[in-house]
Amino acid sequence: MDRRYTETIKINNVNMGSKHPVVIQSMTNTPTADIEASIKQIKELEDAGSELIRLTVNDYEAMEAIPKIAETLRSDGYTAPLIGDFHYNGHILLAKYPESARYLDKYRINPGNVGKKDKHDSNFSQMIEIALKNDKPVRIGVNGGSLDQELLTELMTKNAAEADPKDAQEIFAEAMIQSALRSAAFARKIGMPKNKLILSVKMSDVQHMVDVYQKLAERCDYALHLGLTEAGSSMKGVAASSAALAILLQQGIGDTIRISLTPEPGKSRAEEVNACKALLQSMGLRFFMPMVTSCPGCGRTNSDKFVYLAQDITNYIEQNMKTWKQKYPGVETLTIAVMGCVVNGPGESKQADIGISLPGSSEAPSIPVYQDGDLLTVLKGDDIKDQFITILNTYIEKRYSLVKTPS
Ligand code: SF4
Repeated sequence: MDRRYTETIKINNVNMGSKHPVVIQSMTNTPTADIEASIKQIKELEDAGSELIRLTVNDYEAMEAIPKIAETLRSDGYTAPLIGDFHYNGHILLAKYPESARYLDKYRINPGNVGKKDKHDSNFSQMIEIALKNDKPVRIGVNGGSLDQELLTELMTKNAAEADPKDAQEIFAEAMIQSALRSAAFARKIGMPKNKLILSVKMSDVQHMVDVYQKLAERCDYALHLGLTEAGSSMKGVAASSAALAILLQQGIGDTIRISLTPEPGKSRAEEVNACKALLQSMGLRFFMPMVTSCPGCGRTNSDKFVYLAQDITNYIEQNMKTWKQKYPGVETLTIAVMGCVVNGPGESKQADIGISLPGSSEAPSIPVYQDGDLLTVLKGDDIKDQFITILNTYIEKRYSLVKTPS
């Protein structure tokens, strides 16, 4: 069942909602006041495929940097909408720097830290009014680590007085949901249209996060931004985020996603964008580049030739994708199999658009190549990679070329 938002939310050139693909979002980790470093990283994220880019806006210097960052990016041809991430002092910054407020394309407000008691409502409404004046969408981003403590205490106290009190985790989830829904209702009361609001309820535990989003999706029809917050680094972060996001996306929940990875020294921030692309493509929700299916190898193969071939083909695709995207529309849906032996090699190769099945340890040294399910040729010799790349290029040219070559 598709529970995505049925209208369209427009954030400059990006459309969000059930009629559009799930949007990929990322966030910089440079100090926003460091204009040069921020611009460099935003370009890196957009080049990798991030469609929305969020920046911390935590002080005067960060807010002052926004116009320069946005102007430079736009004049250099970068178009991804820029989102200001506000905590504690967003109402002050947005009011004090109207020009920067206009340059930002969307605001993120965390209702857990816009102020306490009577300050909460006035600070929150001040930000919503500025968003309305500038015609900007807003994400109400609730986070398990900064949940509105007054609301949590209110619900916990009420629960404790019940004859049969619920589990504390259940109340925590309810507080997350109520924080998002009450804030959205308040924003709507001030005048914010529904198609300018996006909600999120991020948590760091996979099961809790899935549960809270499922409940939120059942109780509202707002656009939802998905993310497992504080997911961790590298393999653990990607695995945990993919597990959580895949369950929800499969249930038709989520209009935009971010995979929040703890940065690894020396690695690009764009890893989080690549992880989002890999997740969406693995689920068949979006296509970014031809997918290489390769087997893990086992004792049936005594050489790592197919491992290198799979890597070489992946590298070849990455190197050529920019040109292919212009020349060969639809090439991103191509599937390629690179397999290690006769057990699954021919089968997987036939299912792919193009597949190559290298011989296992006890097999004859001939290498069948399949195209559209049929045996195309059998390769021999030492230049298998070059021969296979030639076949691949011919196939792509024939199938995806804008100007069809005569058959
Ligand atoms: S295709 Fe062959 S080499 Fe690859 S994992 Fe399967 S049995 Fe092993």
